[in-house]
Amino acid sequence: MKIGFIGLGIMGKPMSKNLLKAGYELIVCDIVREAVDELVAAGAKAAASPKEIAQQVEIIITMLPNSPEVKEVVLGKNGVLEGARPGLILADMSSIAPQASREIAAKLAEKGVEMLDAPVSGGQPKAIDGTLSVMVGGKKEVFERCLPVFKAMAASVVHVGEIGAGNVAKLANQIVVALNIAAVSEALVLAAKAGVEPELVFKAIRGGLAGSTVMEAKVPLMLDRKFNPGFRINLHIKDLDNALNAGHQFGSPLPLTALVREILEALKVEGLGDCDHGALVRYFEKQAKTELKRFPTG
Ligand code: NAD
Repeated sequence: MKIGFIGLGIMGKPMSKNLLKAGYELIVCDIVREAVDELVAAGAKAAASPKEIAQQVEIIITMLPNSPEVKEVVLGKNGVLEGARPGLILADMSSIAPQASREIAAKLAEKGVEMLDAPVSGGQPKAIDGTLSVMVGGKKEVFERCLPVFKAMAASVVHVGEIGAGNVAKLANQIVVALNIAAVSEALVLAAKAGVEPELVFKAIRGGLAGSTVMEAKVPLMLDRKFNPGFRINLHIKDLDNALNAGHQFGSPLPLTALVREILEALKVEGLGDCDHGALVRYFEKQAKTELKRFPTG
């Protein structure tokens, strides 16, 4: 089966390589030439535009930053819609606003093109291992047809409802992750300021109710002062903005999300927007005038 893949960034690159490994024929494009060259070296074909891809494949996957980029690639000049024919499936795996997914799907439907919103969680390490979690919105029968393709990139694939439902699930995920990193940061900075070794506090509490996947993934990086992305603060700001908009649209207040959103803004103003979201700890460190480091051993 021929698959198109548009958006070869931190996530798209390893995801598309896993599709090649699974034996799919791949046609790719990205505005960054080096990213395309890397995939061509791995066995993919390059296309000049999303339109050109749409003319040749059965399924197109997009893995782009946010709603405006997905709209441009799908509905814009030389976009997917221009090259599409009835029966084509667009699986947008980017994390975008649920409302945007619905708008794009409605435009595609006019030309007989099906759409799934299928955002992922797991980050770059799981994208490389092919063990992402995919949450999918759209028609059940379209989901079934794409399931083998998703499974080449993921350990968990769940159909959560109609178009837009995948991105609602993803927003829920992003709220829990952001608030969890903030809670872990605040707690361990208190430990450091109180003169108690943060690494030992981590060891003491990780097995209890406070333990979490976030704690396991982020605390070692915080202690090692490793803040390269991973998942950029700027992207998490985008997700929380989409969550706040959805909260307002559906009438579901998100006070904790609003607070962490503003903490991320403060970090962006400090010039940390391209750091990993684990750099949230640096906000609390600044307030407490301390740093979360491993205590010297011996
Ligand atoms: P990224 O910025 O590394 O990659 C985005 C890619 O899209 C880039 O290669 C960029 O050149 C390309 N692009 C942008 N506009 C384009 C256009 N008009 N035409 C073609 N290509 C275009 O971002 P990422 O970290 O790979 O994230 C992609 C999506 O996945 C985002 O929605 C993000 O929120 C989500 N996500 C990321 C992670 C993570 O850990 N990085 C985890 C889960 C979900």
